[in-house]
Amino acid sequence: MSVTAASLRKSGRYRLRPTDGPVVLYPQKLKDLQRILNPDSPHLPPFRPMGADTAATECNSSSVGTVIDMTAFNEIINIDVAAGQVTVQAGVRLGQLSHALAARGMELDGSHDLVSRTVGGAVAGGCNGPAIGSNHGLFAAQVISMKLVTPTGNLLDVGSGQKSLLNVFRLSYGMLGVIYELTLKARPITGFSASHRRCSLAQFAKAIDSLVRTNAGMRFLFLPFSDAVYLDLRRFDVNARATANIPWKIKDWGESTVLPRVFKSLHRIIPAAGVRYRLIDKLSQLTQGLVSSRLVSSGSMATAQSCGRGSSSSLQYSTWFFPAADFSIIIQAYKDFCVRIRDESGFRCDMPTVGYRLSRDRSAVLSPSFDEPMIALRAMSTQKTGWDNFAIDFGDFAKHWGASPVFNQTREVDLAYTKSIFTTRLEYFRKVRRQIDPDRRMMNPFLSQYFL
Ligand SMILES: Cc1cc2nc3c(=O)[nH]c(=O)nc-3n(C[C@H](O)[C@H](O)[C@H](O)COP(=O)(O)OP(=O)(O)OC[C@H]3O[C@@H](n4cnc5c(N)ncnc54)[C@H](O)[C@@H]3O)c2cc1C
Repeated sequence: MSVTAASLRKSGRYRLRPTDGPVVLYPQKLKDLQRILNPDSPHLPPFRPMGADTAATECNSSSVGTVIDMTAFNEIINIDVAAGQVTVQAGVRLGQLSHALAARGMELDGSHDLVSRTVGGAVAGGCNGPAIGSNHGLFAAQVISMKLVTPTGNLLDVGSGQKSLLNVFRLSYGMLGVIYELTLKARPITGFSASHRRCSLAQFAKAIDSLVRTNAGMRFLFLPFSDAVYLDLRRFDVNARATANIPWKIKDWGESTVLPRVFKSLHRIIPAAGVRYRLIDKLSQLTQGLVSSRLVSSGSMATAQSCGRGSSSSLQYSTWFFPAADFSIIIQAYKDFCVRIRDESGFRCDMPTVGYRLSRDRSAVLSPSFDEPMIALRAMSTQKTGWDNFAIDFGDFAKHWGASPVFNQTREVDLAYTKSIFTTRLEYFRKVRRQIDPDRRMMNPFLSQYFL
C-alpha cells in the first residue's frame, strides 16, 4: 500500500469493509454516540443523523456509510417554568414535548403541525408552521442552546452567548455533528382564535398582501383545480384557552390520515382520471368545509400541536419558500403551472397544496426567509408515478420566481441556484463546515453537491 493510501486510511476518511448496504445504528446513550463517531470505530463514514425520517430529500440517508437513528434519545430533561425554558434530548417527538409542556401549563414559543417529527430534526432541518406574530419564523429560532457530538466523537456545547455560532448550527442538516440535547424557549399556554374561510383564488390573491402584514398565524390549503383556497387564520385570544383538543384531532385525522388513504384507494379503483380527480377534489372540499371550518374555532399551540402524524413514506412532497411581496401574482401563476403540467404530462397532485407564512427570520445562516418574509408552498401527492418529473418542473417554476429552498424539504435544487440565493451566507456556512469536519465525515453525496 502506498504511503498516501495508508495515511488516508488512518485519517478515518476511507476504510475497507465488506459493502453490504447502509448500516443503521440506534445509539441509546451519549457514550454510544461518541463511540460511533470516533475515528477508530469500525463504522464507516459518511455518518448521517436521522430523526423521524420525514425529510423529502436524501439529507438523512447514507447508502454506503452509517445512518444514526436518534429516536432513542427521547428524554425530557427539565421544564423550567420560571425561566420559560425546556431542555430535551434531540430524539424527543414534538407531540411528546407538547404534552409534557401542557401538563405544566406551558407550550413551545413557535408553531408547527407535524408532531411525530423529532426536536433534533426540526432544528437541524428547515421546519415551520402557522406561527402567530411578526417575529416567528423557523422552529429552530426557539433554540437557546444545544449540545452536540462532533464528527470525530468529541463533545461540543453551543451556548446562548455564542449567537453567531448558534446561527450556523440551526439548519445545519447534521453536517456539523449530531445534536443530542437542546434547550428551547417555552411560554405559558396562550389561547388563540382560529377563523376559517373559503375563498376563490382571485379573492385570496387580493387579500394576501394585507394578510402578510398582519400578525395572524396563517395556513392555507389551495386546490388549484377547484378555484378554492381554505384559509386558517390564528390570532391570540385569552378567552380561547379552554378549548379541548378532540376537534383538532378529528380535523387532523381527516386531513392527514383519511384523505391520503381514500385518495390512494380511488387511484386503484377508478381508472378514468377525469372522474377520479373530480371526486378527489370534491372530497377535499367536503373535508375542509365540514371538518376544518366547522369543528375548530379556537385552540392553543398545545392543542393544535397534539396532532399531525404525517409519514414521509405515504406522501411525496416538495416545499419552496416564495417572496411574500410577490405572492399575489405567484399563486395565480402556480395555478396556471399546475394546469399546464396536467395538460402536458397527465400528472397532477391529488393532495391540496399547503401554504404557510414565514416571517423574516435571521436566526439561521441558511434560513429561507433571511432577507424578507416568505410564503411556503408545499406540493403533495400520494402518487409516485409522475411525481419526480413534477418535482423538477415545480423546481423550475420556483426558481423563476426567486423561491428559497430548505435542504430537507425541497426537491430538485441545483448548486448554481443555491449560490445565487444564499450568496455569501453559503460561503460562510461552508467555511465553518470545513473547519468542523475537514475530513467530510458527515457529507453524503446529496449534501456534498452544495456544501463542500
Ligand atoms: C406529511 C408531512 C407533513 C409535513 N409537514 C410539515 C410542516 O407542516 N412544516 C414543516 O416545516 N415541515 C413539514 N414536513 C417536513 C418535516 O417534518 C421536516 O422536514 C422535519 O423538520 C423533519 O424532522 P425529522 O425528525 O423527521 O428529521 P429527519 O427528516 O429525519 O431529518 C431532517 C434533517 O435533520 C438532520 N437531523 C435529524 N436529527 C438530527 C440530530 N439529532 N442532530 C443533527 N442533525 C439531525 C438530518 O440529518 C436531516 O438533515 C412534513 C413532512 C411530512 C412527511
